[in-house]
Amino acid sequence: MQPPLQRFLTECHSRFADDHSGAVADYIPELSKADPALFGIGLCTTDGYVYEAGDSAVPFTIQSISKAFVFALALETRGAEAVESKIGVEPSGEAFNSIRLTADNKPFNPMVNAGAIACSGLIREAAGADSFDLIQSTLGRFAGRTLDVDEAVYYSESATGHRNRAIAWMLHNHGVVKADVDGVLDIYFRQCAVLVTARDIAVMAATLANSGINPVTGEAVVSPYAAARTLSVMTSSGMYDYAGEWIYRVGIPAKSGVGGGIAAALPAQLGLGVFSPPLDDHGNTVRGLKVCEALSSHFNLHVLSRTDDVRSCVIADYDIASVTSRRSRQPQERQIILENHSETRVVELVGALTFATIEYVSRRVTTGLTPDQLVILDFRRVPMITAAGARLLGEVLGDLIAAGATPILAGLSDTSPVYQTLAPRLADISRLRKFPALDDAVEWAEDQVIYRYGGFVRVNDPTPLDAQALLTGMSPEEIAELSSIAFVRQYAAGERIIRAGDPSESVFFLQSGMVSVKLPSGVRLASMVPGMEFGEMALLGSPRSADVWADTAVQCLELPLSGYDLLRQQRPQAGEQIMRNLAALLARRLLQTNAKVDLLRNS
Ligand code: GLN
Repeated sequence: MQPPLQRFLTECHSRFADDHSGAVADYIPELSKADPALFGIGLCTTDGYVYEAGDSAVPFTIQSISKAFVFALALETRGAEAVESKIGVEPSGEAFNSIRLTADNKPFNPMVNAGAIACSGLIREAAGADSFDLIQSTLGRFAGRTLDVDEAVYYSESATGHRNRAIAWMLHNHGVVKADVDGVLDIYFRQCAVLVTARDIAVMAATLANSGINPVTGEAVVSPYAAARTLSVMTSSGMYDYAGEWIYRVGIPAKSGVGGGIAAALPAQLGLGVFSPPLDDHGNTVRGLKVCEALSSHFNLHVLSRTDDVRSCVIADYDIASVTSRRSRQPQERQIILENHSETRVVELVGALTFATIEYVSRRVTTGLTPDQLVILDFRRVPMITAAGARLLGEVLGDLIAAGATPILAGLSDTSPVYQTLAPRLADISRLRKFPALDDAVEWAEDQVIYRYGGFVRVNDPTPLDAQALLTGMSPEEIAELSSIAFVRQYAAGERIIRAGDPSESVFFLQSGMVSVKLPSGVRLASMVPGMEFGEMALLGSPRSADVWADTAVQCLELPLSGYDLLRQQRPQAGEQIMRNLAALLARRLLQTNAKVDLLRNS
């Protein structure tokens, strides 16, 4: 099935292919040879999916589009201070090849020739003879492949680029371009002649839109700072003397080149690359502008026209009354949890977290906050958090502690990207607990509540058989008969008691110690304390569905199914009672699962 965006781009392509307005650039003789009918579109999403339409694989010279990426490289290699002190960021309101400088003799911005030549000069000062190689390879890292140079276009521009020479010497006069003016010009002419396709510039733009990380290769090409500042100058000056009109109407940071290309980058969403040689009077590709305009207006993609609902970052908000951990609790523990559930709070977060969503979370967790509350924030469904979001969250966690609450982070490991961003903000929060699994965090919180109310069970004191939930309501004689046909079993900590897939031939009654029911993958389904049974599904004839491990030294009674059958024959009532107890156990589990499903559906 064709994705809708593919249909849209294909349709744009056929609609605008009929527009023959504009003229191919001819001030560089070699460029005038371009076929005006060529028309290619590429679009790359920030998760690295690339759409293409028309001549998206036809190479053309990057020309001024290189200015954006070389500016990012200059910021990266020379640092912001060095670059920003030499090159301004004000729109010039003039054509790309304007010779005018600002009142203090700086290029207006890096998107016009003067600023771009200054950038090449800055890189030349740092990288010397390797400067062009550095530029070419960096453009290649933006595109995700090795890029060549069109030698004919390079010679053609070098032979005729006297206006750019004038600009470079003027910059030299003002100390912006240091020594070797010809060398700097050579770098600039070469960088303009790098060959790219519409697909390439889509990926390059998507890299800027993706905070400097190429979404196709995953490589961090430039820092988030360099990417954001590059998008800024593209926004204010990327379209020469059409920049104001462009940002007003289309609202997508973009950079065009006289080769007929345009790269447009929609932050955090996509990169668009269009190639079509005929240019308008401003030097911008006619069909390229049309595609950008159509995409922006059809899908309302103007950067400043945004809607979002911060509330969608909380997918569930509950306490342990409705959802407990997978650790089974004994009756008195359950009672304590039931009476004091509001001392816990579980807030499950979802999606990329930002300043705005964390700000919302900060208010939400303080509403209904009780003294001593255990507040679990679950990050399982959170792929990333912005630096601003992390900073604010750090403060929220600190405030919770100051208020007497216990914040707990769930769904985070030391290596998860969210934790990496968050960690520097948590440096002075020593009491913070972190659990990779939400279930473990909830169990820990339950333990705290049970502990607060003195309800801890001593798991090492053997529990009598008549305290087993499965044996509720049985007479002492029946219990005695049962224990006479059961075997006492002992296991060391870490031993496997039941193996998933094995036939079920017995039921276990846990008398002392703790066991955990786990899937072969290691995921815990439940933990049991004395007084509980496991392997009880054997009574229904199904094979072992999971592993059961001894967490501590364990003693249990194993009742073989053959023994149970014997009991049932001799005492039908006892057999029926066990089945009724089993049904009650299963019903309770089902109710708990339903509560969780309902909670997630309604939040
Ligand atoms: N190489 C071209 C020049 O400096 C680039 C200009 C452009 O693409 N607008 O004239």
